[in-house]
Amino acid sequence: MRKHVHDWNTPANAKIWSPSLEALPREQLRRIQDEKVAGAYTYLWHRSTFYRQKFEQAGLGPDSVRSVEDLPRVPVTLRDEWLVDQQKNPPWGTFSPLQQSDWLERGWMLFSTSGTTAAHPRSFRHTSFDREMWSWHGARALHAMGVRRGDIAINCFAYGTSVAFWGLHYALNHMGIPVISGGGANTERRIIFIETYKPTVLLCTPSYALYLGRQMQEQGKSPKDSSIRLLVCAGEPGACVPATKQRIEELWGARINDDFGCTEVAMSPFGYTCEYQVNRADGRVDTHFMEDAYIPEVLDPETFKPVPDGERGVLVVSNLFSEAQPILRYVMGDWVSLTREPCPCGRTHARAIGGLAGRYDQLIKIRGLAFLPALLEDSIRSQPEIGDEFKIEITHVNDMDEILLTTELQPGASMEDLEAQEQRLSRKLKGSLGIVVDVKLVPPGTLPRTEFKAKRLFDLRDRN
Ligand SMILES: [Zn+2]
Repeated sequence: MRKHVHDWNTPANAKIWSPSLEALPREQLRRIQDEKVAGAYTYLWHRSTFYRQKFEQAGLGPDSVRSVEDLPRVPVTLRDEWLVDQQKNPPWGTFSPLQQSDWLERGWMLFSTSGTTAAHPRSFRHTSFDREMWSWHGARALHAMGVRRGDIAINCFAYGTSVAFWGLHYALNHMGIPVISGGGANTERRIIFIETYKPTVLLCTPSYALYLGRQMQEQGKSPKDSSIRLLVCAGEPGACVPATKQRIEELWGARINDDFGCTEVAMSPFGYTCEYQVNRADGRVDTHFMEDAYIPEVLDPETFKPVPDGERGVLVVSNLFSEAQPILRYVMGDWVSLTREPCPCGRTHARAIGGLAGRYDQLIKIRGLAFLPALLEDSIRSQPEIGDEFKIEITHVNDMDEILLTTELQPGASMEDLEAQEQRLSRKLKGSLGIVVDVKLVPPGTLPRTEFKAKRLFDLRDRN
């Protein structure tokens, strides 16, 4: 796992941190992946009870997986399988190859998933080796976004057991960029930090970028005129949702970048945007996958067979570097399509076309049509008269799905003739979504403000 680490300390050039890994011909990339897949498989076979059983049940032996070509023989892992394993073998389960003695010897931190509905928190141990790899991967991703020596960062992710705060914190340390930790501070204090210490890079969720900017405006301050020149967002799809991207960029006068991963298997930036993608004139953003560290696959959600590039399927990922979680074929479940065409930035690694807009299990069927919540968000946010906050309630009345959008008007917008305004918006949404949406407009400040991750969609239909 330590092999194929190039340009550890400093970037090789101004555009690409490690061109011999990020911009190499795909056949050479494949050879690196082959070696790493074989390494991860062998390691899991010998060290993980859960995976040893899973491999044996699939008829695999200790040497069955030697290359990327063999990878489809490995059965996929669903999140629930780990839940069962952890419940049977508390508190960690047996899927991680990490032993308690390893953790006591070189343990770094415990990380937990957010927003879990499981009875127990799902937590994972990581080691100092993992910390170093996360830092280096993070540095490469931040470099691709345009973060440079001379910047000062303010990190507003939650200071807790989430991977976002720590992954980015150590990446910035690795790059030699000073960090103001906003993790434990409230919004009031973060605004004072921005005004006083003039950070140039803001790291937070897209919802919080909107919230923080609006709070500054309410205090008569201008986020656009602040020292912030670049945003790094994670935790929600916003940075790749065109209308949300545009709102945040106009508010801050700065480009917003996407940093994508998950606690279970892709803790360091698995997906990240480059300067070419965030500056595209058509507003679309493709997110790169760091393919020397991970292998992305896009599979049919029912059969788990591969779908061709350019077609949508569920995202399945293999981790090729972690000491604690070198998991092969974990179903992250994001609904994506892939391209392996080289990017004009020079990178040859695959990209998610239009970024990552949400998970397949979040697809919501309304009157027979399937929508990702981020697509609904895009249609709503692209209406300039609508404020930042909105909620969507879906009910089922008289055998029909009914959708009610409650949204705030922009501050200062006219409250006259509300009914006519509502009908006009409803017609525009019908045009973009193809379904009838009832609209209720409320004065600015009526809906609760979203500070971290937003919950805007409420499906109130009786599932029975
Ligand atoms: Zn690129």
